[in-house]
Amino acid sequence: MDKNVNLSPHVVILGTGASRASYLHSGCVGKPIPLMKDIVDMLDLRSSIIEAGLDLKDIDFEAFYDELATSGQNLTLKKNIEDRVYDYFSQLHLPDKPTIYDYLIVSLRDKDLIATFNWDPFLLQAYRRNRVLRRLPRIAFLHGNVSVGICYKDKVSGLIEQVCSKCGQPLKPSRLLYPVKHKDYIDPFIKSEWEVLSQYLEQAYLLTIFGYSAPKTDIEARRLMLEGWKKNPTFNLAQVNIVDTQPSNQLEDSWKDFFVRQHYGIQENIFDSYLMRHPRRSCEALAAATLMLKPWRKNPIPQFESIKELHEWALPLVEEEGFSGSKGENFSDMPLSSKNHTLT
Ligand SMILES: [Zn+2]
Repeated sequence: MDKNVNLSPHVVILGTGASRASYLHSGCVGKPIPLMKDIVDMLDLRSSIIEAGLDLKDIDFEAFYDELATSGQNLTLKKNIEDRVYDYFSQLHLPDKPTIYDYLIVSLRDKDLIATFNWDPFLLQAYRRNRVLRRLPRIAFLHGNVSVGICYKDKVSGLIEQVCSKCGQPLKPSRLLYPVKHKDYIDPFIKSEWEVLSQYLEQAYLLTIFGYSAPKTDIEARRLMLEGWKKNPTFNLAQVNIVDTQPSNQLEDSWKDFFVRQHYGIQENIFDSYLMRHPRRSCEALAAATLMLKPWRKNPIPQFESIKELHEWALPLVEEEGFSGSKGENFSDMPLSSKNHTLT
């Protein structure tokens, strides 16, 4: 605990609610993020569906897409829908002022992991504008992402605009995994990202689940997460934080398999969570409070008008970790969790 740092990971899992809260942090800006159930009309997919001789009738988009994918019929329509969704999400941008994703990234360290189910580009946009702080968390994309590119031949992942570090060819868009009942996690990139999440869950001391409601179509995802979490040798000491606006009893019921006794907290607002009250020191603060019975004073992350102010505030914490945020250096490191950007 020299310099008040230790190395137990804090794992944060993000669902749609997290991206939505980040995007709307300073009010409504730009195009709306569609919910799955609204996607047909927001992306004007209805005419293509009717042209293909199909009808949505009363079934929702998830059930419709599930049927489309499972039947293997209408591959052109399926590709058309996927391309439209991909293009729409690719064009979304975070506002300039710091958002929840900026605070989240700055509040975690390079020993920590953010695993997201979201396809939107917000997390990587936030990562890139905070990377001057260098010691940032790893990121895993559990359902693919529009900002990620892949060379499947060389098993290399990177940012979509980059070229493959092995063959020099432009990276190809990552596959987006849709909310269907029987998801396959066989895509090499997605499989590799899940392996990374499992490894981190097996060692984590704190787990924060933010805006992710573990929908019924994610049974397999939930099983994989729980498997990793239960293998954790410190499971009995570890703590779970749920950040969600749903009623507490519903959340307790939904996540009870992940809790040990009373080692959990539920907050509606991410700024009230353990992470934001002890930025970059959440695991140390938890250990001090629960193992040493010496709770630390809170150091809540203030909200700022600019990213620069956020960095000025965070830099002393980064420096305490034995590393100074550099200025003007080339930065080519990747936030992607896959080791050396090569898929396993
Ligand atoms: Zn390649």
